[in-house]
Amino acid sequence: MDTSDHGGRRALVVGLGISGIATAVRLRQIGWTPVIVERSPARRSGGYFVALFGAGRAAAGRLGILDGLSDRDSDGASYDIDRTGRRRPGWSFKDFPGRPWLMTRGDVEKAGFAALPSDVEIRYATVPTRIEQDAEGADVTLATAGGRPVTERFDLVVGADGLRSTVRRLVFGPDERYLRPTNCMAVACQLPGALPGHKQSDGVVLMEPGRSMWTFPFEDRPPTLLLSYRTDDVAAEFTRPMAARVREVFGPEPTGRALGAALDAVESADDVLFDSVEQVRMDRWQRGRVVLVGDAAWCVTLYAGMGVSAGLAGADLLGTMLARHPRDVPGALERWERRLRPAIDDLQDNGMRMRSLFIPISRVELLWRRALMRLLKLPVISWLFVPWQRRLASLRERDFAHPDFAHPAPARPAPAHA
Ligand SMILES: Cc1cc2nc3c(=O)[nH]c(=O)nc-3n(C[C@H](O)[C@H](O)[C@H](O)COP(=O)(O)OP(=O)(O)OC[C@H]3O[C@@H](n4cnc5c(N)ncnc54)[C@H](O)[C@@H]3O)c2cc1C
Repeated sequence: MDTSDHGGRRALVVGLGISGIATAVRLRQIGWTPVIVERSPARRSGGYFVALFGAGRAAAGRLGILDGLSDRDSDGASYDIDRTGRRRPGWSFKDFPGRPWLMTRGDVEKAGFAALPSDVEIRYATVPTRIEQDAEGADVTLATAGGRPVTERFDLVVGADGLRSTVRRLVFGPDERYLRPTNCMAVACQLPGALPGHKQSDGVVLMEPGRSMWTFPFEDRPPTLLLSYRTDDVAAEFTRPMAARVREVFGPEPTGRALGAALDAVESADDVLFDSVEQVRMDRWQRGRVVLVGDAAWCVTLYAGMGVSAGLAGADLLGTMLARHPRDVPGALERWERRLRPAIDDLQDNGMRMRSLFIPISRVELLWRRALMRLLKLPVISWLFVPWQRRLASLRERDFAHPDFAHPAPARPAPAHA
């Protein structure tokens, strides 16, 4: 790839998550000079379970990080359990359409970071506070904890700063305009070992109306835990100590051994993710020389299982478009968005639909889910669902960041602001 037109071009990448790291790796591949700023004082390498689908693996291959990744699937049994300990064969993430590699977020972060050239500048505890742009570049004021704010000029600003992106707020407007609540909460952490009554390799699901527990097993380490529940008032969820609130949600009935151990783990884990599940819906992801990538732009939610894959694919394609249009950054960003949007729209729609498989809203929905899971194990019935499974698998496996990829359906009009 010709990188001669990119010499000396500086890009500010805001956020050292998977999307930010991947973007910086890709920008370096095409000869740019990325500078990364990260709000946290250090890398965030902790990990809950993530699935990496074909779209993400293809992008990871081009980014040079696939060799650092592997499928950690435990190949163990999957169970649907209840609080009394009764169990029946259940479904695991591997049974959903597609051929995901199972791993933790930390695995991807580590592989991405290892591919980041060591001379890429990273400034921790640093956030943007102002972004002004003109036709030639963008002036960004950066504030560092304990230091004086500085204003620097960049040829490109990439907001890879996650669900509640500051770049989005500074350039596109307030969160309320773009966040679409699912009215679900997610609590995720590492378990210290297998749940009582289970092997470390078992996947365990406890599903009740409005709340659920999932464990995700790996071949070579203890499982991770995901508790999910529905709420009518997301803001109120953050007003109480987290562990007490989670116990309240999963009460008042006796927990039983497995759920009890899971709640204990939430209380004692060093690193617990506790957050509302929101989608980001925007009618554009770029403006001039500023572009959003990953959760900042399109957070598809954990229910889609495609956030990591989409972040890697988006970063990869961004570099491709900038390389193809080296003298027209805004034009490259527009073309990038046009290519990516149909696939991301599909993933977002799917994320909303998949929510019910993770947390059924009512007993009827729960029974329907159980029946569906059982029916899908019968060859005759499963055959009826082949078109649905094929479509979902193709959504996740197709290499939509490849420059020659042709979207199967014409692009739909961009969704309006929420
Ligand atoms: C429980 C759970 C399970 C999931 N399961 C899956 C799955 O199976 N498959 C999958 O593909 N995806 C899954 N996801 C989603 C996936 O983890 C995310 O989509 C992905 O990690 C997003 O990466 P990102 O880099 O875009 O954003 P983030 O990981 O949010 O990174 C943003 C970075 O920006 C930094 N930052 C924020 N604000 C600022 C600021 N103002 N200035 C500087 N830095 C800032 C943050 O500290 C952070 O380091 C799951 C998510 C959760 C919560």
